[in-house]
Amino acid sequence: MKKILKNVSPRIKFIAAMVGFVSSIITIINFGIENFIKIIKNVLIGVLHFILLILTFKVSIWVIVVLIIILFFVLWIVYKVKDLSNSYEVDFLNYKTDMYKNWKITWNYDNAYKIINMRAICVCGCELFDNYYGEECPNCGQTYSYFNAKDIDAAKKVIYYRIKQGDYKIEQ
Ligand SMILES: [Zn+2]
Repeated sequence: MKKILKNVSPRIKFIAAMVGFVSSIITIINFGIENFIKIIKNVLIGVLHFILLILTFKVSIWVIVVLIIILFFVLWIVYKVKDLSNSYEVDFLNYKTDMYKNWKITWNYDNAYKIINMRAICVCGCELFDNYYGEECPNCGQTYSYFNAKDIDAAKKVIYYRIKQGDYKIEQ
C-alpha cells in the first residue's frame, strides 16, 4: 500500500484526502440533517472508495467503464424495485370497498394504513341510515340487517386478510 501511494502524484493524493475530509465532515454534520445531505455524503464516500480502488489496483479504463455500467445497472434495479413497491402501496390504498356476507362495505385508511370508518353502504352506493328493523337506503329503499360493532371487527379481519393475500379488486 505504501509503495503504491508513493507512485501516486501528490495532486491526486491531495484530492483523495480532501474528498475523505469533506465526506467525514458531512458525516459529522449529518446527524439530524435531512436526506439531501445524506445522499451527498453517500455519493462522496462512493467517490472516495472509487478513487482508492483506482489508486490501489491501477485498474485499466475498461474496468472502470464496466464498473460504472454495473453501478448504473444496480441503481436501475433498485429504482425499479422501489417503483414496484410504491405501486403496490398505492394499489392497496385504493381498495376501499368490498362485499362482506350480504353487506356492501366501505372504509378508509389512517396514516398507519389501519382501516377506519368502516360501514355498510347500499349496493347502489348510497350511505344507509338506521331505522327500527335495520339499515335502509334513502336512495332506493333497499333494507339491510344492522352492521354492528362485532360485524365491523370481523369484516376488518377479513379485509386485512384479503389485502395480505392480494385477493381483492379495486372498484372503479
Ligand atoms: Zn340503495
